[in-house]
Amino acid sequence: MDNCIFCKIAAKQLPANIVYEDDELMAFKDIKPAAPIHLLVIPKKHISSLSDCNASHHELLGKMLALVPKLAAEHGIAPVGDETGPFSGGYKTLINTGPEGGQEVYHLHAHLLGGPRPWTLDR
Ligand code: 5GP
Ligand code: ZN
Repeated sequence: MDNCIFCKIAAKQLPANIVYEDDELMAFKDIKPAAPIHLLVIPKKHISSLSDCNASHHELLGKMLALVPKLAAEHGIAPVGDETGPFSGGYKTLINTGPEGGQEVYHLHAHLLGGPRPWTLDR
């Protein structure tokens, strides 16, 4: 998709701090973190928002969501109920959808926010 920032990151035409990549997905650090750990998980293929998803996206959405706990663990956020990691108590997973949903970048992405509060997330 022309002029889509996240498509350009997926194509490595724009730099990003990439923390995960496979054939379908990429995860990278948010450029303006709202929490000590703030990652974005995207499909490499352009999908504008969650409102464009349907049953044909079940597998992709499942993979995106299942990647979140793996990334959280890799970034020191212990599984819920486990107090052993540097960070415990869970994390927030967020998909802003549309203007009223606070979406600014129109390429589907899931936020993973975690680490010690305070956070600057106001949504
Ligand atoms: P949204 O409001 O659309 O859910 O969130 C978009 C997020 O993308 C914001 O948290 C913003 O900081 C982040 N972001 C915007 N442009 C870039 C960029 O060029 N690189 C990275 N890594 N993050 C970006
Ligand atoms: Zn895109």
